[in-house]
Amino acid sequence: MKTKPTKPKAEPLEEYRSKRNFDVTAEPKGDRSSAKSPGELLYVIQKHRASQLHYDFRLEWRGVLLSWAVPKGPSLDPSVKRLATRVEDHPVAYGGFEGVIPQSEYGGGTVMLWDRGTWTPESEDVDAALEKGDLKFALAGKKLRGSWVLVRTKLGYGGSAKPQWLLIKHRDRYASTADILTEEPRSVLSKRLLVEIARDEGGDVAKAAKGDPAPIAARR
Ligand code: MN
Repeated sequence: MKTKPTKPKAEPLEEYRSKRNFDVTAEPKGDRSSAKSPGELLYVIQKHRASQLHYDFRLEWRGVLLSWAVPKGPSLDPSVKRLATRVEDHPVAYGGFEGVIPQSEYGGGTVMLWDRGTWTPESEDVDAALEKGDLKFALAGKKLRGSWVLVRTKLGYGGSAKPQWLLIKHRDRYASTADILTEEPRSVLSKRLLVEIARDEGGDVAKAAKGDPAPIAARR
């Protein structure tokens, strides 16, 4: 009888931990844990001024944070599709992290807790939806609310070698053409801008400042 070689199941946070030196970075090492209130699933977006500015979109599922990097950030406009690259799962404790990752470290730069709350699956079977590449959910954050979808694109979409995902707002009363990214640029944890987090915590202030929206006067 032929036996299929079974791939050893990777430790959930193996890739996350392998990329980081926890003696150097203040990011949590993370142990498998679930949300504080049973039945509630954590949702967070971290604005991350790394080499490229992006928004890390994270949904708690099965004791970790499923994670996507969204270069342009979320849009409340249902006609706008935002590219989202699936990245390694993060520990649930990461959902409380705001601060500066040392420049020498993976993802070095300033991190802001841009939004936080809970999420509810709207797809019946989340694992099947992730497998299929079509996950529907509702967000109850401070900034993002209502119904959304993450849909996986076909291989080669936008010239990418890897399958990508798109983050799209569904049409509901929370849909809007307002630019939430420039209208609400501050941390939901500390009300700070990126530049203020970098200044307070010994980060690269000039680099962080480039991730904040230009002052209103300069935008006119
Ligand atoms: Mn990131």
